[in-house]
Amino acid sequence: MASDLPDKFIVFGAPDIRREEIDEVVDSLESGWLGTGPKVQRFENEFAVYRRVPTDRVAALNSCTAALHVSMLAAGIGAGDEVITTAMTFCATVNAVIHAGGIPVPIDIEPDSLNIDPQLLESKITSRTRAIIPVHFAGRSCDMDRICAIAEKHDLLVIEDCAHAIETEWHGRAVGTFTDFGCFSFYVTKNVTTGEGGMVIARSAKAIERIKILSLHGMSKDAWHRFGDKGYKHYQVVDAGFKYNMMDLQAAVGIHQLSRVEQAWERRREIWQHYQEAFDNSPVGMPSDPEPDTRHGHHLYTVTISADACGVSRDEFLTRMQESRIGVGVHYQCLAEHPYYMERFGWRAADFPVASAFGASTVSLPLSARLTDAEVNYVIDRTLAIISS
Ligand SMILES: *Cc1c(COP(=O)(O)O)cnc(C)c1O
Repeated sequence: MASDLPDKFIVFGAPDIRREEIDEVVDSLESGWLGTGPKVQRFENEFAVYRRVPTDRVAALNSCTAALHVSMLAAGIGAGDEVITTAMTFCATVNAVIHAGGIPVPIDIEPDSLNIDPQLLESKITSRTRAIIPVHFAGRSCDMDRICAIAEKHDLLVIEDCAHAIETEWHGRAVGTFTDFGCFSFYVTKNVTTGEGGMVIARSAKAIERIKILSLHGMSKDAWHRFGDKGYKHYQVVDAGFKYNMMDLQAAVGIHQLSRVEQAWERRREIWQHYQEAFDNSPVGMPSDPEPDTRHGHHLYTVTISADACGVSRDEFLTRMQESRIGVGVHYQCLAEHPYYMERFGWRAADFPVASAFGASTVSLPLSARLTDAEVNYVIDRTLAIISS
């Protein structure tokens, strides 16, 4: 019914930008310091405090993709090295491996956690395997005890993709701090945003030094301070680096986003719970509840729509939700569905039965901290109406 339609489209993953972010960006613009400077340093320090790591173990970059790429390089991943990851992730996870010269090896997921299946992991390890990239899907922690034990046994590096998992903890410890590298995203739809942005946490301060050099043209580390007021410094190029540094303009947003990270998490948790209660005893397939003694990041609320149970196909459901002015997402089609990987690596969806079935039936409902109760109720009402019509 037209009268049900909200005034405006419910944007999927809409960021919660407030006056303090706007004022901080204006302050940067007026100061003339737009690039990498004091606000990036402050954002790095505050992020380190939030995740309880020393401040020399973090580097702010311009995306999580960049963070994954330079982590791979700092880890020494190169030509022909195999890196095992999950088939249920964003393409950036495997593209970073490819850009480092490595060969991504996806494996199937557990139906319950939707994370990489540790049971399958060992069977994919070869003499060329160098690393594992666990992805904490939707904000739910992977089983870090099992993954770390397998990595240790086979002498593999671990690089965690924490793009969904800023607030996530495994048995009281922040994900991204267990292993060699943890990579975070501040893309617009993520739990903390800087528009575009990313962060690496590394186990060693030396790795962070190398990442900072690689992320700024390969220039020696003093280059990060060369436009300061401390006197002119010459720089030396010590590597063929990239342009991956974060700007103060981005950090200006991030500082205030981070100061509200827990408040926003509480709100998303509330909405997540509300959805769980609303869809209980309905034909909608619901995500499993968070595991005891872990902290779920509540980044995505992913349901499954099967035509048999719901009387509507997943794609028809997506269309009808969009027509109802509700922005929805798909996280993700199985990686093996994409032509590039099929052609280059010969991946086939049939080899990942759990990930491909989930990818063909999943829908992410809005879970922004900005949603009002009325909007959440509208999403629930439309979902139930569409499946029973
Ligand atoms: C968003 C995302 C990335 C990439 O993050 P960017 O900051 O956009 O580069 C990588 N992995 C996963 C799982 C993501 O969701």
